[in-house]
Amino acid sequence: MADKASKPHSLVVGSGAGGMTMAVLLALAGRRVTLLEATPRVGGLLRRFQRQGVPFDTGFHFTGGFDHALPQMLAMLGIADLVKEEPFQSSLYLTPTGSRYDWPHGVRAIAECLSRRFPADRDKICAYYQAEQDVFASTPMFDLRCEAGRLNPSPSEYDFLTLDEFLDRLGIAGELRTALAANATCHGTPPGECSVNHHFRISHGLDSHIAKVRHGGRPLLTGFLREAKRHGVAIRTGVAPRRGLGLVDRNCHQVECTDGSTIAFDDAFLAIHPKAILELLPPESVKAYYREQITGLPETCGFFTLYGVLDASLDVEPRLTSCLNSLDLNRILLGKEAASATGIVTATEQTAAGRRVQTLTAFACTGLDDAQAWPRGRDAAYQADKAAAEKRILDTIYQAHPEYEGRLTVLATSSPLTHRDFVPPRASAYGVRQCAGALRLFGRLPARNWHAIGQSALVPGVLGAMLVSFLLFRQVVGEETYQRLLNSCLGA
Ligand SMILES: Cc1cc2nc3c(=O)[nH]c(=O)nc-3n(C[C@H](O)[C@H](O)[C@H](O)COP(=O)(O)OP(=O)(O)OC[C@H]3O[C@@H](n4cnc5c(N)ncnc54)[C@H](O)[C@@H]3O)c2cc1C
Repeated sequence: MADKASKPHSLVVGSGAGGMTMAVLLALAGRRVTLLEATPRVGGLLRRFQRQGVPFDTGFHFTGGFDHALPQMLAMLGIADLVKEEPFQSSLYLTPTGSRYDWPHGVRAIAECLSRRFPADRDKICAYYQAEQDVFASTPMFDLRCEAGRLNPSPSEYDFLTLDEFLDRLGIAGELRTALAANATCHGTPPGECSVNHHFRISHGLDSHIAKVRHGGRPLLTGFLREAKRHGVAIRTGVAPRRGLGLVDRNCHQVECTDGSTIAFDDAFLAIHPKAILELLPPESVKAYYREQITGLPETCGFFTLYGVLDASLDVEPRLTSCLNSLDLNRILLGKEAASATGIVTATEQTAAGRRVQTLTAFACTGLDDAQAWPRGRDAAYQADKAAAEKRILDTIYQAHPEYEGRLTVLATSSPLTHRDFVPPRASAYGVRQCAGALRLFGRLPARNWHAIGQSALVPGVLGAMLVSFLLFRQVVGEETYQRLLNSCLGA
């Protein structure tokens, strides 16, 4: 057996889906791994919390990927036995027009559903979904078995064309435009800024197979912790790196931590916000232009969230209802003048006492200016804003589902400030807009043995954060090790 001290030592920072995936993979490949988490508890946005014994998810309500990369990733991480998909439906409700779309499953079926609604636009709708399929087909990272040589396709026109420009080119306007692009609320970058590739990489997974994991983030987190323990990952909570120490040949091999300790490592993987990474890099490694570019990256929206239970007299199915109170997705995602999108997710859970309950979680997009409007923290102005947000969310819920009125008990609410506290340092739901990798800013960090992973690197969402770790893991450990592990976990 290799001596523990002779194994390469990897430092992983941040214990959300991105950091946990990386830590387990590196340990599987035989590395010594230390995982640092700044808050007292691991899990990041996979974490759940309880009110009156009822469990709620913070940042993992639904996902794409069960029809492609997710089962492969779960199998390779050794946690497929715990993570089960459950039937899930999705709808779109546009309050300005009163229109409701109950989406069928699958891209073709969705295209057909929209074409029946907008028969004169059938060709445009088909062109839109064809482009979505083409982008998916030309994004090999969704298949863990794809050849390494195909992983870095050269930039395409869709890397530079915005979603708005693409929709203009197809001549799509009005309600149809909003219905087609509504998945932008699941990555948070406004269509006026978002590249076609970035949007389609996320929206295809939801259009082709939107799904819910039974019990949300819990099985993933349980699985990660089990495998981390099995493979000897050292997890330290309540500790964060404070700064990188020294730069030798453009590498930095040591960090000083908030508890005064230092950690030496061969390479580091940072599943945290890009602006937080910037603060950790040895100052001598960060050139002014790089600092400006990273600090200038705008944030995606944040969320006000309401958590409640529905009366047992209602029989609800697991469903996402996306309610948009404006047809203008740019205004919604920039948090302009009360334009908002609210996602309402219903699910069935078990209380701590084993009782079956029907939960409702509703999250409303908000610009992060809201968080900056509370410089004194949770003062009276903040409480008033939060109460107003709760009322707006309830109004939206009852507009979309009048049958819930009088049958919903609110158990908790949260705001971007809450998220900022448990996932420091920002309150943005999906990290930076567009993702730094899409802007070619994250190809390599100024300290060459440091790597940026997590939701702001390439693709946001839990699936995206996991995928980025797989991609980088492959690059770092090399093809031979990657293929050996892949074959041993998934079969040759
Ligand atoms: C309300 C809400 C709903 C969402 N719904 C969904 C959904 O339904 N489906 C979906 O796929 N995605 C959803 N998302 C997005 C999804 O949760 C994220 O994209 C994903 O979980 C990000 O994973 P991550 O590992 O990059 O980061 P995180 O989960 O944010 O983890 C980062 C971790 O790093 C820690 N950390 C931060 N700074 C430091 C530091 N300096 N040192 C050490 N540790 C540090 C944090 O405390 C945290 O634990 C939602 C997000 C929100 C806010």
